[in-house]
Amino acid sequence: MIRLGVTGTDTGVGKTTIAAALIARVHALGRRVVPMKPVETGVGPGDGGDAARLIAAAGGKHSLADVSPYRLAEPLAPTVASRQAGITLAIEQLDHAFGRLSTHAELMVVEGAGGLLVPITRDVSFRTLFRRWNLEVIIVALNRLGVLNHVLLTVEAATNVGLTVRGIVLNSGVTVSTDRAVVSNLGELKGHVPGIPVIPFSPIANGDSQVTLAEAGVQLDPLIPDLLSPSAGGAEDGCP
Ligand SMILES: [Mg+2]
Repeated sequence: MIRLGVTGTDTGVGKTTIAAALIARVHALGRRVVPMKPVETGVGPGDGGDAARLIAAAGGKHSLADVSPYRLAEPLAPTVASRQAGITLAIEQLDHAFGRLSTHAELMVVEGAGGLLVPITRDVSFRTLFRRWNLEVIIVALNRLGVLNHVLLTVEAATNVGLTVRGIVLNSGVTVSTDRAVVSNLGELKGHVPGIPVIPFSPIANGDSQVTLAEAGVQLDPLIPDLLSPSAGGAEDGCP
């Protein structure tokens, strides 16, 4: 099983879009892909948020409660949002949920909240969680001035604790820019992270339908070479 943790250089850089595109792509390949959004903040009762988008991308068969055990109303870091809700987040609870979800998965895609060092509890950040679950890291960044610093900081924060960075996705966003930083970022970044694939990604406009997401997800194929060959894996699906 491949286990991926999707993190961002910041909030609002396209983590969910890229995670959903990857999930839809792998689902379209006929592989067993399972999403997880361990903690989501800024979601009221009945609000599906990021987790619902990930579930839809995986074919809609998982429940919100399984995929996203902690859902908090305030749009704040999990530590703060949970304090305001009067809830203590239990990491063991997240461990159980991860264990259940990953049982039959060929690919697990776990989306964090914000960046790698965002605290979940006082002692546990998403980085801690990604290590705990042996996730390889996908760093999502929005292609704009400042992204080199933010990506390199995130790579360092990951590799310093022994996490493997499987790839960096440079999201072009929906507007085409001719800004000099934007044009040069991809090439520059590649030179600074030898051995880590840096993948440019253009969201397909209007794109939350399964088809457009899966099409956009083809751009992410360098992240999942192991899942591209027509496999043995599909056949062992264990349909009773
Ligand atoms: Mg998100």
